[in-house]
Amino acid sequence: KKAPLVVANWKLNGGTDLICTSVASIRNQNFNVQVGIAPPYVYISELVTFLRNSPIMVGSQNVSKFESGAFTGETSAQMLKEVGCQFCLIGHSERRQVFLENSESCRTKVERALAAGVMPIICIGENAQQYEMGLTRDILYRQLHHTLEGLSLNGQSLAVAYEPVWAIGTGRAASVEVVGEVHQFIFDELVVMLGEDANSVQILYGGSVKKDNAAELLAIDHVDGLLVGGASLDPEHFVQICRVAG
Ligand code: 13P
Repeated sequence: KKAPLVVANWKLNGGTDLICTSVASIRNQNFNVQVGIAPPYVYISELVTFLRNSPIMVGSQNVSKFESGAFTGETSAQMLKEVGCQFCLIGHSERRQVFLENSESCRTKVERALAAGVMPIICIGENAQQYEMGLTRDILYRQLHHTLEGLSLNGQSLAVAYEPVWAIGTGRAASVEVVGEVHQFIFDELVVMLGEDANSVQILYGGSVKKDNAAELLAIDHVDGLLVGGASLDPEHFVQICRVAG
């Protein structure tokens, strides 16, 4: 297995205080995992500065589908690259649900991120109703194919995060069985779309990840990392997850 990738998604939380406590907790640790933190946009530069000379990656939670121009409130992939972002989340379920993003706009964002040299982490996942109706594979198939079909990676990194919406912030992570089946399905679809390149794509799981379930989730085939929301807002807890993972 590749070294796992463990990413903190702070969502609309945190500030200078959390930057300082997180940096203090994480900076001098020696993990066998690759760690990333995605704070709100305005804190990216500060975090990059604090983490200079550390292997911890800083990323964003979103990116514009536009390059430049009259698009008030947007931030381009090139700008993210310039301030030191190494990855960006794309299509998080909260972006899809609350801000009405669809897989077509996610596709454009993936292309922009790759062009700028920022690793896209594409988030996919079904909601509770879709899960109960047995539509998980249909939903993931559509999200994956609209976003990735025909893409060539040319050696660039890309990750996919499976985040079942019903597991996000609920304290109820998906079971080992569900995660195992779904990640195998995602991997198989990646092979169909990307061929050889599929092997380089890391597939993360997200949704109520805690220090107590991190190890069992990472032991599953094709679980190459974790995307952590709530638990990442407690720096000590996040460090413990990284330690369990590595
Ligand atoms: P929680 O870890 O709070 O369930 O959030 C998961 C998530 O949405 C990470 O992107």
